[in-house]
Amino acid sequence: MSKAAHYLGMKVLRVPVGDGFRADVAAMAAAITPRTVMLYASAPTYSLGVIDPITELANLARTHGLWLHVDACVGGILGPFVRALGHPVPEFGLALPGVTSVSADLHKSGYTAKGASVVLFRTAEHQAAGRYDFDDWPTGLYSVNTFTGTRPGGAIAAAWAVMNFLGEAGYRRIAATVMEAKAHLVEGLARIGGGLHVWGEPELWAVGFGSAGHDIFTIADRMTARGWSVGRIREPRGIHLMLTPVHAPIIDEYLADLARSVNEARAVTGPSPTRAVY
Ligand SMILES: *Cc1c(COP(=O)(O)O)cnc(C)c1O
Repeated sequence: MSKAAHYLGMKVLRVPVGDGFRADVAAMAAAITPRTVMLYASAPTYSLGVIDPITELANLARTHGLWLHVDACVGGILGPFVRALGHPVPEFGLALPGVTSVSADLHKSGYTAKGASVVLFRTAEHQAAGRYDFDDWPTGLYSVNTFTGTRPGGAIAAAWAVMNFLGEAGYRRIAATVMEAKAHLVEGLARIGGGLHVWGEPELWAVGFGSAGHDIFTIADRMTARGWSVGRIREPRGIHLMLTPVHAPIIDEYLADLARSVNEARAVTGPSPTRAVY
């Protein structure tokens, strides 16, 4: 969103998140000016995995005649399968009348090869707003839907193949696996103690956790020393996990190393100097 605004010469107004690290609808409403063209929401946020109150934001967008883009890059493909399993996942897509567009990365929870993503628009007119047309040359109309021009089709062909291979049954199976892994992880965090706690109430398989007892980055450093590749969150300070079926069989091993790392962190005073780098 910030990158697009940079290219398009638009100004991004950010408002602090509200309860549970979700978008603060009242604060967003208060930030709307006559020059506002678009609202933006996450389903879920990358860092803590929480879904913004999309229904309320969709109503807000409708009231003000604004475009609402829902960034469902992480949750767009598998999220509905998690909902179908009975988990409480609120509606976040075009089923809500105020949602104008939704992005969903096939190469994330669609489990396809990197380089394939989709943007869904409410109408053909909305889609046309993003297209670039050029007609002032001898060969006629040049028309592209993306900032990049000609792109390789390999990732799209690979995505088509993977999605057909997995099918609905495959995505249901993956959804069940990652949600069981998450439940297992969250129970394990509570058992370790040391003040470990999940930040917010993530609905899907992305989880951020912190520690009330020790510096979580020191714990992260100890996990790194044990060979784990650790994602860090800056604000609030935490460890970031994006669970996939690959992680399901090693949750116990992870938790055992985490317990050892928490023990070692007890002896360390002062915060770790390590930075969060995406
Ligand atoms: C991956 C992702 C994007 C897209 O970023 P890319 O650099 O194009 O991969 C956008 N939003 C969220 C929340 C993401 O996780």
